[in-house]
Amino acid sequence: MHSGSDLCHFRDVRSHPAFRERLVIVSQSIQSKSVVSKECPACGHRDVREWTRAPDRFHGRSEVYVLVRCQSCSLVWTDNPPRPEEMGIHYSSDYDRLIALAGDGMPSHSDGRANVVRQYKQQGRLLDLGCSSGAFLTAMKGPAWELAGIEMSKTMAKRAQDRSGAKVFIGDLMDAPFENDSFDVVTCFHVFEHFYEPHKILKKVWNWLKPGGIFYSMVPNIDSAGFRVFGSYWFALELPRHLFHFSPASIRHLARANGFEEVSIRTHREVFMEESVRYLYEDFFRNLGLRPTTLAKAGELSFPLKVVRKLIRMGIYKPLSSMAGIAGEGESIHFILRK
Ligand SMILES: [Zn+2]
Repeated sequence: MHSGSDLCHFRDVRSHPAFRERLVIVSQSIQSKSVVSKECPACGHRDVREWTRAPDRFHGRSEVYVLVRCQSCSLVWTDNPPRPEEMGIHYSSDYDRLIALAGDGMPSHSDGRANVVRQYKQQGRLLDLGCSSGAFLTAMKGPAWELAGIEMSKTMAKRAQDRSGAKVFIGDLMDAPFENDSFDVVTCFHVFEHFYEPHKILKKVWNWLKPGGIFYSMVPNIDSAGFRVFGSYWFALELPRHLFHFSPASIRHLARANGFEEVSIRTHREVFMEESVRYLYEDFFRNLGLRPTTLAKAGELSFPLKVVRKLIRMGIYKPLSSMAGIAGEGESIHFILRK
């Protein structure tokens, strides 16, 4: 066991045995393990293997989730997700704050997405699934569009409605009362991975779209450089809130199986480096018997963590950034499908 005072003997955190041990675990954890007797919910294939295990690192909780991977279509999913009625406890107010910040703090993201929509459709009816506080809907506001949204949180839905003028349905997507063949565009940004049944959702979207209508979505890419480098420490794993972990291949498979035509499926770099490195060093401190501040409470960052963060920024961030640049595909998948 290492004690807290050990730390001062190591000029650089990376040379500490506990940290090196963590990195070895990361590289081992992304190799496929034993076959589990399961059927892939996307393609029905039966060769499904354990892929990795990880806890909810955002909240620093201890329950471990098992990820399994279909050997045929490459879909990865959480094999032991919380039951739907228990999922509420995994969406804390800290988490809501992070999501609202991500949406409202980056207006350029919403404007970029609005520009992509306009490349395909210049007017009509648009529905945003999981619209949060309405940053994207607000970017689409104007006489050309009749806007609608779906959102679970009442507070977020009200904010979205007030600022964008959209009609926002509050509740479960499967209960939303929209008519078939009624939307020109359906969007879904970093929400699709939160659904229990992606097949059913795609079927719903297909029904809501008019013929020729566009589904534009973004999800994290499990087949990315970020996941290869960080494994179960990769920030975008977001367990247990992310139930499915897609790759371009599994998105392609799901799209075809539900009758969509592929317009484009591309990956974009979004390294989540700082958050992932933070998860690594939080675990490193836990191994030393310390109690690091979790990302959920990051506003209250303690003094030793500030020092280490600085060390890591200087020592690890740059080499890993350049490594990620050459080691594989981007961390988020942007896909556009047509009915
Ligand atoms: Zn499959």
